[in-house]
Amino acid sequence: MRCEDIASNPAFRPLSSVSGPAVDLRYAGLRNFVGRDLYGALDCAWLHRLAAEGLEQATARLQVEAPGHRVLVLDALRPHRVQVQLWEHLDGTGLRQYVADPALGSIHSFGMALDVPLVDPQGRELDMGSGFDEMTEVSHPRLEAVHLAKGVLTSAHVRHRQLLRNAMAAGGFNGIENEWWHFDMLDRKHVRQHFTRVD
Ligand SMILES: [Zn+2]
Repeated sequence: MRCEDIASNPAFRPLSSVSGPAVDLRYAGLRNFVGRDLYGALDCAWLHRLAAEGLEQATARLQVEAPGHRVLVLDALRPHRVQVQLWEHLDGTGLRQYVADPALGSIHSFGMALDVPLVDPQGRELDMGSGFDEMTEVSHPRLEAVHLAKGVLTSAHVRHRQLLRNAMAAGGFNGIENEWWHFDMLDRKHVRQHFTRVD
């Protein structure tokens, strides 16, 4: 399905219909690791309706655990054509573990993944110890205990990450082992087999 036709597909919901989160799509501007606007005229402020419902539930949980805090959506639906550009940009860098191979398909391209830090009631991003798209081991949830023991991460960093994970888990999202900011709705294989990819 072409991204240009997304508004006519009832499986998808605009991000603006989800109350709660703040939105700042980084690939629609210059503040991303490629350094150029990858979305251009494409409207990528969409999610599959299942992910949109999950985001609403995550937001509700966050209001209980940390009143006034918000999820900040940095990326949601990412058309396959943009995924190809990210993959090509990382060719030869040794960093391709951080971007899904287009041959498999990113879960973002199904509108079923989110990249989300948290912001406090004043709108400031909570310090997670590393930034969005920071492609180093400090970003790996799998290694948090090691980083904490070595003082690379503080207990506040880990507490902030856990707050995010708890909220997203309440919405049915799964985290991944190498990016604290990325969450998938449903099993990746299942999504790739049974959902519509946006190209
Ligand atoms: Zn992601």
